Amino acid sequence: FGGKLYLGMDFGTSGARYVVIDDLKRVHTEGKMEYPQFMNENAVDWASSWKTTLFSLLEDVPTGLRSFISSISIDGTSATTMIVDSKTGEPLHRPFLYNESCPDALPLVKSIAPANHTVCSGSSTLCKLVHWWNLHESNKESAILLHQADWLLWLLHGKLGVSDYNNALKVGYDPEVDSYPKWLASQPYAYMLPSVQAPGSSVGYLKEDVEVQFGFPKDCIACAGTTDSIAAFLAANATETGKAVTSLGSTLAVKLLSTTRVEDARYGVYSHRLDHRWLVGGASNTGGAVLRQLFTDEQLKGLSEKINPMQSSPLDYYPLPAVGERFPIADPNMEPRLHPRPECDVDYLHGILESIARIEARAYWLLKDLGATEVDEVFTAGGGAKNEKWIKIRERVLGLPVSRAIQTEAAFGAALLALKGAQPKSSLPLDR
Ligand code: ADP
Repeated sequence: FGGKLYLGMDFGTSGARYVVIDDLKRVHTEGKMEYPQFMNENAVDWASSWKTTLFSLLEDVPTGLRSFISSISIDGTSATTMIVDSKTGEPLHRPFLYNESCPDALPLVKSIAPANHTVCSGSSTLCKLVHWWNLHESNKESAILLHQADWLLWLLHGKLGVSDYNNALKVGYDPEVDSYPKWLASQPYAYMLPSVQAPGSSVGYLKEDVEVQFGFPKDCIACAGTTDSIAAFLAANATETGKAVTSLGSTLAVKLLSTTRVEDARYGVYSHRLDHRWLVGGASNTGGAVLRQLFTDEQLKGLSEKINPMQSSPLDYYPLPAVGERFPIADPNMEPRLHPRPECDVDYLHGILESIARIEARAYWLLKDLGATEVDEVFTAGGGAKNEKWIKIRERVLGLPVSRAIQTEAAFGAALLALKGAQPKSSLPLDR
């Protein structure tokens, strides 16, 4: 191989993956690993586990390719928070995981932040920081906050205290004015907040020991990362305004590239910055989890084959795995609606798939009503994306082209960020 290569790494909820791509976004090699469960005083030592995984995956990249890697970027789970020593980078506390909640910090956070701000949730990064701050009396001066992706990238570039504006959103960073807001910057722990760069922008060269140990080129750079779900969006290559990605996993989540920023706490709708545009997102509780309660994946496949997707189903359901919906209808008391059940399971499944498609359509209408750019094409990821009949039903109900995303790996999205970071500023591939 003679050209340049770009390495993306994804640190997800259960394991990590890497993908190496070239300038044409072709995949040259990839690999994955589950996290080893190191124990430390009866708790999993996540920091050591992630660090070991990082270096094992670098070891796994074929040696012949390593010397062509121009840049590396990493995504991590959103709101996974680390408090580390500002000189050594060593964790001063076990990492707070993405889904951990610190409700004790919520009253204080709510008292300083604007109403309905993203940080006003027990699992936000800011609640984790405030929780830590209130628990600890000593050694606070030498502590700083990093997100999982920031810390892993630090192990490669060695500059402590750098983050990106996607990861930093849930600690309170304002990506629109590109700074921490006054209400946050005036807090006693504000000195712990990392400096923030654009995802994919160069942070610096790799540390010499890393470069030598793995045989990366001397000018290989580390680029600021993003969160795992944004990396998965980037992977789908929906690079133009108006393009959207619907994830049909256990739940239904939509993400739309918009010129305008949209936020609405009632529906849990908020926007992440992507260069000069906004990634507007919302998540419904409907989705594959309901299908799994009723049918096996085998049954889903068999029954779907018998559906005529051109025919509209008269069955009007609202499939939910439990009581309560937030988006596109904000109603915590909403009951699942899956009746009447027809005799024929093909008709039943057709009704469910079509009803979920109507919820998807309503989701995109709501985003438009809230001020987002109108969607003009939908790509799909997740377990539901492989259902061709469902794609046809959705095309009819949405009145838009719908297709399965060719790439859905977050690690591929991280590799695109690495590719972006290695380009001259005038030709950013994600910035068309
Ligand atoms: P998760 O959100 O758990 O990561 P996945 O993306 O792995 O979910 O997707 C799993 C979901 O996909 C299951 O809930 C299952 O019901 C659904 N699923 C699997 N096969 C099909 C199919 N052929 N048609 C529609 N949905 C499917």
